[in-house]
Amino acid sequence: MAIERTFSIIKPDAVAKNAIGGVTAKLEAAGLRILASKMVRLSEAQAKAFYVVHKERPFYAGLVKFMTEGPVVVQVLEGENAIAKNREVMGATNPEKAAAGTIRKDFASDIERNAVHGSDAPETAKEEIAFFFSTAELAALAR
Ligand code: ATP
Ligand code: MG
Repeated sequence: MAIERTFSIIKPDAVAKNAIGGVTAKLEAAGLRILASKMVRLSEAQAKAFYVVHKERPFYAGLVKFMTEGPVVVQVLEGENAIAKNREVMGATNPEKAAAGTIRKDFASDIERNAVHGSDAPETAKEEIAFFFSTAELAALAR
């Protein structure tokens, strides 16, 4: 298995409920290394651009409002098979369907306010990392 990088967001609901540590603990316990991490407040334009793939979906406007309601933590995670592993630790989009012990099972409120984002493929991981972190920033943090 290859060492991969993926991109994660601890969403405003999880930050508001003091779950930054709880979420991060589950990521680290799964063998994912936090390569880069920062707290930011998304602008409306950033949230719209980040989730542009969903722009025709009925939940798009609500999703943009939610993602801008408070600070988020954006992270680059590294590890073996990191993209799939992160998706596994996150659990299903709908927390009612998320497996026991997953981040969404333990910290999400509903299908919208679901605690975390994780890239779903190598190409999106690359794009999403570049959306928030410069090459120089990542190079300075590499271990
Ligand atoms: P993410 O892309 O945030 O990692 P995901 O890949 O599990 O989540 P997507 O289908 O890409 O799920 O949806 C993106 C986000 O939009 C979801 O995480 C959730 O916050 C919101 N969302 C998805 N489906 C719905 C829905 N039916 N109603 C409300 N919000 C939704
Ligand atoms: Mg998605």
